[in-house]
Amino acid sequence: MRLSNKTALITGGSSGIGLATARRFVAEGASVAITGRDARRLEAAARELGPNALALVADATDIAATEAAVARAAERFGQLDILFANAGIPGATPAGATKPEVFEQVIRTNLTGVFFTVQAALLHLRKGASIILNGSVISVLGNPGYSAYAASKAGVRAMARVLASELSPRGIRVNVVAPGAIRTPIWGAALATPDAEKAFEARIAATTPLGHIGEPEHIASTVLFLASDDAAHIQGQELFVDGGATSSPAGAPIYRG
Ligand code: NDP
Repeated sequence: MRLSNKTALITGGSSGIGLATARRFVAEGASVAITGRDARRLEAAARELGPNALALVADATDIAATEAAVARAAERFGQLDILFANAGIPGATPAGATKPEVFEQVIRTNLTGVFFTVQAALLHLRKGASIILNGSVISVLGNPGYSAYAASKAGVRAMARVLASELSPRGIRVNVVAPGAIRTPIWGAALATPDAEKAFEARIAATTPLGHIGEPEHIASTVLFLASDDAAHIQGQELFVDGGATSSPAGAPIYRG
């Protein structure tokens, strides 16, 4: 097992990528605290994960609640080896039709919340710990309608590099996993019915060189790698897990003859 006796905190651990990562971490021997806003969903996830999981209701935009959650995780498990700052929301912010509060909520959750989650964890992170932040291909793709989301995720990349500098003296690594389109509830209506899901899969497949949508497990195994000693000398990097969508877009099926 690759995470025997390790302790982890995963924000947004009740669904999608966070939950898949929590499952993987527990299977690899870790004790895992998961956060989210919806207590029922969180409890259900923790029950499924079993006795090595701890559910902590905390809104990532509430700094005091985040500090309290990290402190409770440390109280239960001892110092933390791994932080996966994963909680995030989408939110359309098209130019010409966006209210400031919608824009700010995306930034507050995906960027400010990530910084203060890391800050709250600093007190409780062991020397040599691994921090992984969740980015997105949207930080580089220019998808119409997503200014706030793209800016938040580009901010995560920039922030990771600064944090890597600041935390290297403690041997703490800070890296970013940047997923392409992954099959999770974040896509809402696009995945709400079998027909919608089929159409969405086809759209993503057409623009992805490897020809298919990503699954939460693809991200979980990458986060496991970044969290583990296998990544011991990887610092300040962003790893795109997107089937080639950002590195080689010209290889996507839509451009093939
Ligand atoms: P899901 O909607 O499946 O999961 C989001 C998780 O975050 C839930 O557990 C949710 O719980 C939690 N969450 C949301 N807002 C907050 C908050 N303010 N405080 C605490 N927890 C919160 O989405 P994904 O798994 O897809 O997304 C996870 C991350 O991956 C996000 O950062 C997203 O931007 C990123 N990502 C996803 C991609 C995809 O295609 N799926 C692509 C690229 C990046 P609750 O609602 O109960 O709070």
